Amino acid sequence: MDFNNLFRTLDKMGSEIPQEAPWKAPHAEEWDKMSMQQLFDKICWTSTVQRFATLFVNVNVTSEPHEVSALWFLWYVKQCGGTMRIFSTSNGGQERKFEGGSSQISECMARELGERVKLESPVYSIDQTGDMVLVKTLDNEIYSAKYVIVATPPGLNLKIHFNPELPPLRNQLIHRVPMGSVIKCMVYYKENFWRKRGFCGTMVIEDEGAPIGLTLDDTKPDGSAPAIMGFILARKCRKLCVLPKEERLKRICEIYSKVLGTEEALHPVHYEEKNWCEEEYSGGCYTAYFPPGIMTQFGRVLRQPVGRLYFAGTETATEWSGYMEGAVQAGERAAREVLCTMGKLHQSQIWQPEPECLVGLSIPALPFPTTFWERNLPSVGGFLKFIGVSTVLSAATAVGLMAYKKGLISVAK
Ligand SMILES: Cc1cc2nc3c(=O)[nH]c(=O)nc-3n(C[C@H](O)[C@H](O)[C@H](O)COP(=O)(O)OP(=O)(O)OC[C@H]3O[C@@H](n4cnc5c(N)ncnc54)[C@H](O)[C@@H]3O)c2cc1C
Repeated sequence: MDFNNLFRTLDKMGSEIPQEAPWKAPHAEEWDKMSMQQLFDKICWTSTVQRFATLFVNVNVTSEPHEVSALWFLWYVKQCGGTMRIFSTSNGGQERKFEGGSSQISECMARELGERVKLESPVYSIDQTGDMVLVKTLDNEIYSAKYVIVATPPGLNLKIHFNPELPPLRNQLIHRVPMGSVIKCMVYYKENFWRKRGFCGTMVIEDEGAPIGLTLDDTKPDGSAPAIMGFILARKCRKLCVLPKEERLKRICEIYSKVLGTEEALHPVHYEEKNWCEEEYSGGCYTAYFPPGIMTQFGRVLRQPVGRLYFAGTETATEWSGYMEGAVQAGERAAREVLCTMGKLHQSQIWQPEPECLVGLSIPALPFPTTFWERNLPSVGGFLKFIGVSTVLSAATAVGLMAYKKGLISVAK
């Protein structure tokens, strides 16, 4: 009941939030003042569900329930299609991988674009006081353009000097949206022993002492390089990042061995990890989160152009924000905004629905059917109330009947 109520409530609250403008939700102010922890305290009855709810936030946005605004998190889950879609592997956000790795997308695009792609050239100033916008990089190059699209997480713009200065709300927004914390850990084994035991390799681990919160089987599609990918998330990431790498691996293998019930997990053949918190030009991962109070005060300027500057990046998306999909939506929308300013596109064409997938590669997102009980089962609170009211009514009826039988009360004819 408690699990069912948790998911149903998150989806129901999410359904009230406009995807393009969460600050316009009917309860925006109230929900934005609340952290997800405060919301969980209200809706979760059992410690089992509280623990899972915490992990649900940790896994989806690499931060803690007390750190994120309820309004923002409810919006985040909604714009990924709801609790089932965001968390599921089959028919959900975690289903597909790129054979050969997703970095091939940027590598292939870079090959096509040739010398126009500049790597290792961080931008440190953007000047739009003249006829052209001037962009200066740390390797002392100056690029000029009619328009500029900034496609970084908002907080990283703190490294850039803007001339003229950013407007007040944008300037303060970029101070207020931190990045999540995650270490991605790949443990390689001689063979995928978990499959022999009938396991798929997905582990959801809530134990406070466990370093990893969620795993997926990351064996290559041809069966080579058997591996389990796991995330060290949020508070655990900040606690465990100070340990030596070998110690982290030891603890990870120990928990895999405990969960999978075999010592085979204790004998990896290779280990790779990536602490995204140390990446200077990411600042953390997977995405920026909104702490309580920020969405309603600053959300409306997130993708508002500033002069000839336009803003993309996954944080500005309205669908699958926080994912690669959102980054693509945002990039295309920002490009169309520029085309519109140049008079090459009508304003009504700026927002276009993203095609679900390329024709011929159809992998549609299928609806998640719900059962009668999932829709109608009461919450624990509702159930207890029902029991309480029924008990009082039954007791009152019994007392009434007894009193009638003993002639203490009579019925008028
Ligand atoms: C561990 C991990 C797992 C993830 N798993 C998935 C997944 O399974 N599926 C999924 O869809 N998404 C996943 N994501 C999220 C996905 O990576 C991001 O949503 C996506 O990369 C965002 O794209 P972006 O273009 O908005 O920003 P980024 O990819 O962050 O690109 C921003 C770029 O701007 C550059 N930059 C920053 N500052 C400057 C500057 N001053 N000058 C010049 N350049 C600058 C950065 O170097 C970077 O290259 C994951 C992220 C992490 C960290």
